[in-house]
Amino acid sequence: MLRIDNVHVSYGPIKAVRGVSLEVREGEILALLGPNGAGKTSLISSIVGLAPRTSGKVSFDGSVISSEQTERIVSRGITLTPEGRRVFADLTVGENLRLGAASRRDAAGVKEDIEKYLDLFPILRTRYASRARMLSGGEQQMLAIARSLMARPKLLMLDEPSLGLAPRIVDRIFELLASLRSQGLTMLLVEQNANEALGLADKACVLASGSLVFNGTAAELKSSGDVMEMYLGLEGG
Ligand code: ATP
Repeated sequence: MLRIDNVHVSYGPIKAVRGVSLEVREGEILALLGPNGAGKTSLISSIVGLAPRTSGKVSFDGSVISSEQTERIVSRGITLTPEGRRVFADLTVGENLRLGAASRRDAAGVKEDIEKYLDLFPILRTRYASRARMLSGGEQQMLAIARSLMARPKLLMLDEPSLGLAPRIVDRIFELLASLRSQGLTMLLVEQNANEALGLADKACVLASGSLVFNGTAAELKSSGDVMEMYLGLEGG
């Protein structure tokens, strides 16, 4: 579904991503892991044209999208839920959800999807008329994910959905992601929380200093003691 070939991202002299190639297949969850500053955010932002890709090719559903504008890429069915739970703080939960569907013309479908995601994230139903800034961090993260889903993405890219949340809330977020997976949604998940991410993902890539140091299945990564220890600070094997 998504294919990245030899992508480089640079901010002036800073080389954030150095020749990364990877693939996400339909129905699969790929966890993109690695230490702080490894280039994870730069890589996924470059897929939707929001980071300066200096070379390389990105294809989606068989079309080359590398030179397309962000709006066009999003309309093809890729959404990015950025780090930091960026919701529209002064808008209500309901308004945030409707904004996620701003590019859709099927009003009945939008209404149906709002109901669907209020069922999946019941806390958002109880907070439907509240301004987003009144929500807790975990609730805002759920809203950010639900808002992305309102665009009916084929590929959902999430940047660190567990960042700064209490362990109980992180578990809840991962349960929700697991139920989205069971509905067949394809995901590219950037995470610092390698344990949780590897519990969910089919495949895993590890970035370090802008380069891919591991690309394989989640099970292979879990049993690869060296990579787990060296780059993720975890015990593997
Ligand atoms: P984190 O987990 O901390 O978000 P990351 O793996 O997502 O890290 P990036 O945020 O992609 O890594 O950063 C990769 C490198 O690019 C870092 O050295 C960072 O300082 C640099 N960088 C990121 N964004 C910019 C920017 N807008 N301008 C200049 N340098 C940047």
